Amino acid sequence: PEVASKIAAGEVVEKPFNVVKELIENSCDAGASKIIVEVNEGGLNKIKIIDNGKGIDKDDLPLALERFATSKAATVEDVYSAATFGFRGEALAAISSVSDFKITSGKDGKAYTIACQYGKICDIKPTAAVKGTIIEADRLFENLPARRKFLKSSKSLEGEIIKLIKHFSLINPEIDIILKCNDKEVYHALSSDDTVVRASKVFNGKAFCKGVAEYAGKKVTACATLPAASDRLKRDAIIIGVNGRLIKDASLVQAVINAYHRLIPDGRFPAAVIDIRINPDIVDANVHPAKLEVRFVNAGEIFSLVNDAVANSFKGKGV
Ligand code: ADP
Ligand code: MG
Repeated sequence: PEVASKIAAGEVVEKPFNVVKELIENSCDAGASKIIVEVNEGGLNKIKIIDNGKGIDKDDLPLALERFATSKAATVEDVYSAATFGFRGEALAAISSVSDFKITSGKDGKAYTIACQYGKICDIKPTAAVKGTIIEADRLFENLPARRKFLKSSKSLEGEIIKLIKHFSLINPEIDIILKCNDKEVYHALSSDDTVVRASKVFNGKAFCKGVAEYAGKKVTACATLPAASDRLKRDAIIIGVNGRLIKDASLVQAVINAYHRLIPDGRFPAAVIDIRINPDIVDANVHPAKLEVRFVNAGEIFSLVNDAVANSFKGKGV
């Protein structure tokens, strides 16, 4: 079982990026309106996530570390719903098996902490009150030297996390999110900054325009830059989120590009944020453990809503 859980852990947590992604998604699930992320040495030495979400009951603390003991997927059916980001119930189990791990969580004026060192769970202890949850994962992969050896430099791991937090903040505009690297604040998206303001911060001060397209309970908000003469084709500057989760979807990226090309037919499309909000029943987010890919029940409809939202963002802008 130890080997099996190490292998399973590897699928969920390949590098610090995955740890941070799983933890901020959990904070989101818990209804947090503020999240502070701290990483040292690209997350290899320390990852700490502080949120003001609903917290974890004392009795649920050990369960949170158990594989598949998620509180979120009540039935097998639920596993295929992305109503909440979590539905596999293995992130914390995986992370706590490859790090010096600690959860501190408070509810109703009482707070408890549970530690787990590389899979070895320690007792629950009462602790000074906190409102929300603090998760700490230190010295990642110290029990898996081979994996640690093949990781990139801490500088480049840090770069991946900075990009993750910035992009995540673009598709969760209502959340106040702070990132500190090596104890220095490197990014802060205030809750008063809407997507247009955040996007401009993330993409070097470029001006963004917002457009919306809605149909039958599906809503797509696009924030897109007006192309400047110097802009060149950059597919990775097209950020796509579904219900607050970052996804990769080549065909939706193409929808954005097509919308640009219809308006400005010379190959320029600098940056865009596509925020898709739909009924979770029509998304299957369980395609891959890292959950970057999803399947839509009616992909064609989403495709044309994305196209319309981008086109609407340029309405009246003289293009
Ligand atoms: P999943 O998110 O798939 O349910 P996880 O392993 O990521 O599984 O988390 C296990 C459980 O721990 C969650 O279902 C949730 O009940 C609880 N949990 C984790 N992080 C938080 C948090 N930041 N705030 C409140 N509860 C949390
Ligand atoms: Mg989760």
